[in-house]
Amino acid sequence: MKDIKDIFGWNMGFERSIRPFLIAGNCAAETPEQLNSTALGVKDAGAQLFRAGIWKPRTRPNSFEGLGETALPWLIEAGKLANLPTCTEIATPQHAEAALKAGVDILWIGARTSVNPFAVQDIADCLAGTDTPVLVKNPVNPDLELWLGAIERLYNAGLRRIAAIHRGFSVYNKTKYRNEPLWEIAVELRRRLPQMTIINDPSHIAGHSDFLQEIAQTALDMGFDGLMIESHPNPPQAWSDAKQQIRPDELRQLITGLQNRESSSDNAIFTLNLEQLRAEIDEFDFQILSLLSKRMEIARQIGDFKQAHNVAILQMERWNAIYKSRTREASSLQLSNEFVAEVWNAIHKESIQQQTAILQQKTTPEQVLGTK
Ligand code: PEP
Ligand code: MN
Repeated sequence: MKDIKDIFGWNMGFERSIRPFLIAGNCAAETPEQLNSTALGVKDAGAQLFRAGIWKPRTRPNSFEGLGETALPWLIEAGKLANLPTCTEIATPQHAEAALKAGVDILWIGARTSVNPFAVQDIADCLAGTDTPVLVKNPVNPDLELWLGAIERLYNAGLRRIAAIHRGFSVYNKTKYRNEPLWEIAVELRRRLPQMTIINDPSHIAGHSDFLQEIAQTALDMGFDGLMIESHPNPPQAWSDAKQQIRPDELRQLITGLQNRESSSDNAIFTLNLEQLRAEIDEFDFQILSLLSKRMEIARQIGDFKQAHNVAILQMERWNAIYKSRTREASSLQLSNEFVAEVWNAIHKESIQQQTAILQQKTTPEQVLGTK
């Protein structure tokens, strides 16, 4: 079998020449009129796929949980009216069957479902042999393996039209956004599955319409393939996610305002400068590697001393002093405190691992006799 990495080349079946690939529509289907007006409006804003939630997995009970099957024909009609293919969220095999029977083109698995391997497996089993296109949102918790696992379950069921949606991750202490983007997780997904289409969902990251533009721009700058954005004809009156939805005309403005930076330039001066600067970076990186190696060599010598004198590996005062003195330097060197803290945490962890290996080495009879 070919490697899973090579096979994900699905471009969602659409022309990618007009970037960004845009999925837009309502958080939830409410009425046929609301869907029709949104579908026409988002089409005008450049959407290539129309979304609406039929079944809504809500965090707390007694919120609007979607109209269910009643609204499926409305979604199809709205898609036809605007000449847009449609997509909706499914969380069970029953949802999947009902959506496909009604004629929905693309399904997506939401964050509260991709977190559950049993649920994803049930969906994969139900879709096996259908070649249904499925978009997989990242799980609510920041766990790349779980996200990859959900994709693999669909892949192993024979599905090949799979793409990922990055919608941010739940954290206990909310910051500016409703969900933390943790861009590095999506970037790592791209590294592991380089052919895979990855869509960014600024709406569910932001939680508020004020932040959509900046998140969407970051996503484009980071090379995401497209965006999924919620839109509603009258957001304050929306039955779910009212704060984060925008009117189709606002969506149009948002998309027009995005800077579409090229992934490269063939300008000769640009290329030359970039090559020079990259050569400098390469040089520094190898210096950093060599310094790290020398630092670890000394850490191992300390490990030998500690073993010889039966001293424990971690001395908290020493680690505190290292941590404080290194992070104190950060701002005068134009480095963020968090970055320096993260780097030294990693260095310290590696030192401890290397010293632990030394202390755990069994002393051989030859060592005791001094013959080795
Ligand atoms: C949604 O797209 O409306 C939704 C519920 O998203 P998520 O699964 O990302 O929370
Ligand atoms: Mn929503």
